[in-house]
Amino acid sequence: MTDCLFCRIVAGEIPAQIVVETDTVIAFRDIAPKAPVHVLVAPRLHEPNVAALAAASPQVLADMAAVAQQVADAECGGEFRWIFNTGAAAGQTVFHVHGHVMNGGALGWDA
Ligand code: 5GP
Ligand code: ZN
Repeated sequence: MTDCLFCRIVAGEIPAQIVVETDTVIAFRDIAPKAPVHVLVAPRLHEPNVAALAAASPQVLADMAAVAQQVADAECGGEFRWIFNTGAAAGQTVFHVHGHVMNGGALGWDA
C-alpha cells in the first residue's frame, strides 16, 4: 500500500523517531504529541483498524500489546492509556491500525 503513510514509515520511505521495532510491530513517536509520552504502535501488516487486525491476525495484535507495554515500561513506569481511534468520526486520520500509547501527565478524556 504505497499510498498509506504508515506503510511508508514501516518501509523506511518516510523518517520517524522509532522507539521499538520487532519482526511484526513498529513503535514511533507521534509527530504532534498530545501528551509527554505519545508513541504510536503499529503492525507492519496493513489492516485498516483494530477489529480488522484482530480478525486477520490476533497474534500480531498480541505482539502490539507487548510492544505497547515495553514502551510504557521504558517511558512512564509501565502505566499508560492505549487508544485506537476507529473511523473518521472517532478521530481516525490514518487508516493503518495503530494504538496511541500515552501518559506522562494528567490525561483528560480528550487527550
Ligand atoms: P489517528 O488520528 O489516525 O488516530 O492518529 C494518527 C496520528 O498520526 C496523529 O496523532 C498524528 O499526529 C500522527 N501522524 C500523522 N502524520 C505523521 C507522520 O508523518 N509521522 C508521525 N510520526 N506521526 C504522524
Ligand atoms: Zn498501511
